Amino acid sequence: MFVDPRRGLLIILSSPSGAGKTTLTNKLVEWDSRITISVSMTTRPARGNEQDGKEYFFVDDDTFLRKVGDNVFLEHAEVFGYRYGTPARLVENAIEDGRDVVFDIDWKGANQIRNSRYASSVVSIFVLPPSIAELNRRLRERAFDSPSMVGHRMEKSKGEISHWLDYDYVLINHEVEQVLDKVKLIVQAERMKRTRQRGLRRFIGGLNSEFEARRQ
Ligand code: 5GP
Repeated sequence: MFVDPRRGLLIILSSPSGAGKTTLTNKLVEWDSRITISVSMTTRPARGNEQDGKEYFFVDDDTFLRKVGDNVFLEHAEVFGYRYGTPARLVENAIEDGRDVVFDIDWKGANQIRNSRYASSVVSIFVLPPSIAELNRRLRERAFDSPSMVGHRMEKSKGEISHWLDYDYVLINHEVEQVLDKVKLIVQAERMKRTRQRGLRRFIGGLNSEFEARRQ
């Protein structure tokens, strides 16, 4: 018997920069084509190979503020001196189609989405580095940022980690494939939640009709 498609999930991945969440996000999307990445808008300049529309939509401050005024964003926040925001349209479409959306956003954005009309679709995961020394090593190795930016991101990490209690799941990234396996398990279980399966009431109605038919 057929059960209607479920409602999509909003999978929020947060962590201090360098804890491996971008790699994790990309691997998650490769694993399941029903998961879409939410591409944010930012006023931060593009780094290295970043392309407009792929990692981010890069805009200037005036454009960003105009979009805030036009209510384009599901959430927006200032992080490391730049503005970042999640355009709402993709999220709305995905949820309705039963597709899942993964967000690589900070704790402020996560809070806003938890308090939005999509609260019941949110699954939030906080990814911790195995140690602060390892976090520092990963940040320096990826060489995107100047040494002063690396220092700035390290200083901010303590504040970001202090929000771990707000998340549904907390994972330690010793090894990315291991964390990925755990995230896959979380997504699989969350998809099966009763409240996320749309046609269950009708399905149970069908089972009851079958009982009735057998009694006659
Ligand atoms: P980065 O500049 O390294 O790509 O990102 C810096 C921080 O901004 C990361 O913690 C990332 O999760 C966060 N971030 C990226 N996009 C968004 C967004 O749309 N909203 C919020 N609130 N944070 C974001």
